Amino acid sequence: MILSKTTLPDGRIKEIYGWSHRYEYPKDSPGRGCGFVFGCDEQGNLLPPDNIHAQESQRRCLADLEAGRIEDKGTHEVSHVYYPCECGSGEEPSPEYDGHGIYLGRCCFKCRKKFMSKFRSDIFTRYDCDEPIDEDY
Ligand SMILES: [Zn+2]
Repeated sequence: MILSKTTLPDGRIKEIYGWSHRYEYPKDSPGRGCGFVFGCDEQGNLLPPDNIHAQESQRRCLADLEAGRIEDKGTHEVSHVYYPCECGSGEEPSPEYDGHGIYLGRCCFKCRKKFMSKFRSDIFTRYDCDEPIDEDY
């Protein structure tokens, strides 16, 4: 779910999905660098766990935090930044390839049909040759 979608000064679009709070056991501890990631709000307040397993791991994590066994790695924004499609839709474009994996360009789901119409439809067919193309041997 996208919480917010903003245009950055350089024209890129930033989508924020939420925030996460990370805790890690030190590398030389029995936890060996493992840790926990919980959903939180922008201020870093943990969101209530949505199931019994998450509830249990959050309880264990916070107990270890209190005991000083785990380190608080802080709040991280969960977001994605991209240049919007050239068609002006504001959508994220994805790369398109032909049947042989040759890069054709980028388009979004709104302009894909128009983009694809520029190419012959048979280039999207992946065929296997029985005859070797390169007769070097
Ligand atoms: Zn587009």
